[in-house]
Amino acid sequence: MNAFDRAKLYRTAIFAPGAVALVACVTAIVRSPVRWSFSDSLLTLFAVAGTLSVAFFATSLPRLRSRRIAFGAEGYVLDVPILAPLLLASYNGGAIAALAAFFGFSLAAYVRREELGFDILRHGVGRASLLLLVAAFIPAHSLLSWNFFSFSVLVLAIGAAYELIFAAPLLAIARNVSIRQTVVRFARTRGLWLSLATVTIWATIDRWGFLTGGAALGVALWLPLPYFAWLRWKNDRLSAELTRLKLVREAVAAMLAARDPLPQMRSILGSLRRALVDETLEIVTRTENKKKWRTVASLGPAIGEDASALRARLLARLPFAERESAKATVGSVTISVYAIRAGEALAGALLVHRRRDDLSAREHQQFYQAARELAPLLVDLQSISEAHNAANTDPLTGVFNRRAILERLNALVDDARRGAVLMLDIDRFKNINDRLGHAAGDGVLRRVADEIRAALRLEDALGRIGGEEFLVVMPDATRDIAVAIGERVRAGVACSDGGSEQPAVTISIGVATVRGHDRPAELLERADRALYEAKRLGRNRLVEEEQSA
Ligand code: GH3
Ligand code: MG
Ligand code: MG
Repeated sequence: MNAFDRAKLYRTAIFAPGAVALVACVTAIVRSPVRWSFSDSLLTLFAVAGTLSVAFFATSLPRLRSRRIAFGAEGYVLDVPILAPLLLASYNGGAIAALAAFFGFSLAAYVRREELGFDILRHGVGRASLLLLVAAFIPAHSLLSWNFFSFSVLVLAIGAAYELIFAAPLLAIARNVSIRQTVVRFARTRGLWLSLATVTIWATIDRWGFLTGGAALGVALWLPLPYFAWLRWKNDRLSAELTRLKLVREAVAAMLAARDPLPQMRSILGSLRRALVDETLEIVTRTENKKKWRTVASLGPAIGEDASALRARLLARLPFAERESAKATVGSVTISVYAIRAGEALAGALLVHRRRDDLSAREHQQFYQAARELAPLLVDLQSISEAHNAANTDPLTGVFNRRAILERLNALVDDARRGAVLMLDIDRFKNINDRLGHAAGDGVLRRVADEIRAALRLEDALGRIGGEEFLVVMPDATRDIAVAIGERVRAGVACSDGGSEQPAVTISIGVATVRGHDRPAELLERADRALYEAKRLGRNRLVEEEQSA
């Protein structure tokens, strides 16, 4: 069975019993002779609230640092409050409460599907399905009339059956391991029996509550749960804040080590992106000529076409905007931009894309703050990229320097793709220097570089590798393309006369194409030989490498 089939089977195994139980439960409710009471409604209400808070609580469990605590807490959160009182729930409104639990879990599972993984799905939806089944087939009031002992045994039996017949095999399917061994391992786990015992005790207490104080007491037993979940929710926010601080600290360390501000920028993005599944965050910077925006880091799904157009408009307006943030909506997408300033100057922006227009004041404040935190990082990044450019550029002509163009050449040969190189040399350049002086020679070099660049494709790289020698690296170019472009380059240089101040010059070109197991040096040598041949044949021409080898 491949992974896809398994995932499908797994999902079916979770939801199919639920679907069956759903139908049975609804039928039972419709056909029940018991009348609906006020306390039933209360119970239902609390069941929905309780299940939802418990489900959300449970989804934060994987983030607990200690696995053992997470395991224990999961047992508590999922078993005790859900299974126990709701087993009891065949008391009148119980079937409705079971329904509420099922929907609550399914809803929570859907909302938090990204963070959940299958574990909580299995536990939550699985248990809720079980409750539906119990509520559907055990007649109202019957559980309440059983004696203390048989009730406890029943709860224990149902709990154990759930773990061994449903949960364990499902886990085995999910992990693709032996079902029998997994069931045996489950049965031998002390924690499992402990948690079943707790469930039983809780259910019995709850039942006692129903019997003595009536439904109101039963409901009261639910009350601590939402509060508990709320506490947990708060704690979650706090720990997100702590995680964020930790990430920032780690990133600072990484930055100091590597002098790279990007990790820290990403970690700031990461700390901003809460549980909002459809949210995309982006840091953009202005390019050197200040005309365009470039994405430096982003987090979240790609944005659609409508959103891209809106994004472009917002960014175009940003340099002239008076406020530090702007917001616009198209269709169902809302984009907020926050200016990132270095002193007075606009260095970049933080963009928040979301499906809904529901940014709370607190979140807004957070994004605003993040934009300020990002400013010094963005400035660092810009100076690093300027330094990087400087290290790769030939100062005289502005094309790649020798090191940078040879890097491109290595990459071309490493990729073992199609590709070609042009080796170019200005003809009789010494004469120009001798006649007009070195400075005029430099001017000619600059002009020739411009002419060559103008004749190349976007993907071709041009570098100066020696005094008046240039190299063009052409990824993906066939021999014919390389020759055609080389010819265009040669003609372009020959046609430009440089105006009145500059003498006309010509260039000779050698072409070589990548072969199977070429090394960069071999490729260069063949191009160089072709160039030499072009010079020998009288200059101002293009020669291909010998085709023999
Ligand atoms: P050909 O290539 O056609 O055989 O003749 P050439 O005169 O170009 O011969 P060669 O390649 O030997 O000469 C290169 C000359 O380029 C030598 C040097 O005076 C000049 N040169 C090298 N680097 C620079 C530079 O950076 N600026 C200037 N102005 N001249 C340079
Ligand atoms: Mg020359
Ligand atoms: Mg030369």
